[in-house]
Amino acid sequence: MNKHINLPHDDSGCGWYAALASRPDAKRLQGRQQADYAVIGAGFAGLAAARRLAEHMPEARILLVDAQRVGFGASGRNSGFVIDLPHKFALGHPDPAHKQRLLRLNRAAIAQLQHLIERHRIDCQWSHAGKFQGAVGPRGQAYLDHFERLLAELGEPFRWVERKELATVLGSGHYSRAIHTPGCYLMQPAALVTGLARSLPANVELLEESPIRGLERDGQGGWILRGDAGTVHARKLLLGASIFTQEFGYLRNRLLPVMTFASWTRPLTDAELARYGGQLDWGLTPADHAGTTVRMTQDRRLIIRNTYKHVPKYGRSTSDGMRQKVRASHRAAFLARFPQLAEVPFSHTWGGVYAISRNFTNFFGELEDGVYATACDNGVGAAWGTISGTLMADMAVGADSQQLHDIRAVTGMPSRNPPEPFLGLGVRSRIRLAAWSSRSEL
Ligand SMILES: Cc1cc2nc3c(=O)[nH]c(=O)nc-3n(C[C@H](O)[C@H](O)[C@H](O)COP(=O)(O)OP(=O)(O)OC[C@H]3O[C@@H](n4cnc5c(N)ncnc54)[C@H](O)[C@@H]3O)c2cc1C
Repeated sequence: MNKHINLPHDDSGCGWYAALASRPDAKRLQGRQQADYAVIGAGFAGLAAARRLAEHMPEARILLVDAQRVGFGASGRNSGFVIDLPHKFALGHPDPAHKQRLLRLNRAAIAQLQHLIERHRIDCQWSHAGKFQGAVGPRGQAYLDHFERLLAELGEPFRWVERKELATVLGSGHYSRAIHTPGCYLMQPAALVTGLARSLPANVELLEESPIRGLERDGQGGWILRGDAGTVHARKLLLGASIFTQEFGYLRNRLLPVMTFASWTRPLTDAELARYGGQLDWGLTPADHAGTTVRMTQDRRLIIRNTYKHVPKYGRSTSDGMRQKVRASHRAAFLARFPQLAEVPFSHTWGGVYAISRNFTNFFGELEDGVYATACDNGVGAAWGTISGTLMADMAVGADSQQLHDIRAVTGMPSRNPPEPFLGLGVRSRIRLAAWSSRSEL
């Protein structure tokens, strides 16, 4: 039994979540529940795992348990890019086959999400908009030149977009150049994950607002999950808990909890939209990853995301003062890009926690007999969570596929962290250094 489990502590400021229509009350864990499979965490990974288990085992009882409402965790509060390309660090991997495997896996996730969105008519601003990777000055441009070489090596399509054309799309002359890659999709993350939860197969039972505070063996090869008002007894346990995997005693000292933050405006009025002068429905990530992500949604809101923090106590690590500073930094980035909208306020500012590892390696596998996990997507988890959750279910039922071979080939063990206080000092100074070096791109 774990002694003390730190729970997620996400703030209530998430704009995506606030924009959802109201939902029926959560069904919570109560009493003694018997299940064939228990899945902890109902983000992209847990939702995909539960769905796939149900497809494999239509007669099985599958319990999907989350400490919060679906959409309230990182999966509902991200920037809404569903990215096909390997992330920055994997893109530089020396083995071309490694990158092709990642591409295939991410694209399988996108196809899977698209299929579910169409089949269940999930209204989530899903759009095949592609993605701009934008440079402000010479530092960003050097990153783009490197990105161009990596894309060419990979044989992936892309297009340079220069300042003038960019301004007609973004409504901003702030960026000097960008590379547009066509394979990325955009979405409203809270709407997507709540839609996925609503459309789960009938033999998956979703229990929300039901934190699991302890795990123990049941003495017969299965597991007991202890909640506040009940227990789940299950033969097999699948963890889609991302950074919180470590709270259950697994991958300890190998994951790093990182928080990043976003702010958005209310929907622009017709007059503001005319002054803005750009288009709807685009997304731009920074050429230099420590820079600023920007999106314009289909419903006329501009979003700014930047700033990273090391958060050993997850959401509890952040103070109001720090949040004010982050919001001020978002405001400065907004004004630099959209001075013509200076009077348009932010309506929401929020943060979200995810896991990175020092060697940028994702974990996927069996942790011990009957316990499976996918954890540590290094901050690009919409596609990765979907495919790794799906394949975690395949692994748990003993299925085999080319995709399982692929995911095993591209994942591994996140490297061990140094002990505190060296870890905190090291991570904080790296984040500060990256922010300082990239200040011209913020
Ligand atoms: C601001 C921001 C922007 C981002 N932008 C992007 C982006 O554009 N594209 C992208 O791909 N990724 C992005 N990410 C990262 C992405 O959101 C995550 O990588 C992804 O959501 C991880 O999904 P997951 O299902 O693995 O984990 P999570 O969504 O973190 O789900 C884990 C779940 O486990 C639950 N849980 C934890 N502990 C317990 C417990 N004890 N009992 C029960 N339940 C528990 C949590 O409540 C949570 O819902 C962003 C993240 C943030 C914060």
